Amino acid sequence: MTRKKQFIVIGLGRFGGSVCRELVRMGHEVLVMDMDEHKVNEYANIATHAVVADATDEQSLRSLGVRNFDYVIVAIGENIQASILTTLLLKELQIKNVWVKAKNDYHHRVLTKIGADQVVHPEKDMGKRVAQQMADDKVIDYIELSDVYSIVELVATSKLEGKSLLELNIRARFGVTILAIKTGESINISPEPDYRISVKDMLIVIGHNDDIKRFEDQAM
Ligand code: ADP
Repeated sequence: MTRKKQFIVIGLGRFGGSVCRELVRMGHEVLVMDMDEHKVNEYANIATHAVVADATDEQSLRSLGVRNFDYVIVAIGENIQASILTTLLLKELQIKNVWVKAKNDYHHRVLTKIGADQVVHPEKDMGKRVAQQMADDKVIDYIELSDVYSIVELVATSKLEGKSLLELNIRARFGVTILAIKTGESINISPEPDYRISVKDMLIVIGHNDDIKRFEDQAM
């Protein structure tokens, strides 16, 4: 497992709540903060520490020892002003990793200007992901590495059944690389050239989006 880190999650809406649960599940320490007492009570038994506080209040942030944390996630939803002010205070307190949820592009631009280290758009990003998966039934999951490069998880089709990686010659023909092959629970990292694909396999492929598309269209 990765080194245990300390996080603060500010704002316990659906997004902040889900970030908190996942971090705890991964074994990290999580301090949650919300100005709504009911939300804080809901997370009292889940998070490592749960406090009722207004994140736009500099004194509260200081007294909570915010400086000692590796990462702070500002997950304040609707209130853009509070999100911006909180981010500004956290950067003034010299927190190295401030991640912020943005509501729209204007919000995103302001956050970048005031020093947010990462800006996330959960709805927009998830929308893209769902669209990709719905439109292409071979795609199980994907990670966008840049505008043009991705890692995708594809279900092997019957067209690939019994074929070896060597005879498919995927890298030379399409310029994409099979990083790993998943079969049920087991995963084969950098499969050998004589590996024969079965329809039960999932191929984890890395490459240029155009090349991945060509591979899907022509080989699968
Ligand atoms: P989501 O869209 O992720 O569900 P919400 O807008 O519902 O997000 O939730 C945001 C949370 O942030 C709410 O629980 C709200 O009480 C909290 N919040 C808003 N402003 C502040 C603030 N200044 N300090 C602390 N928590 C805040």
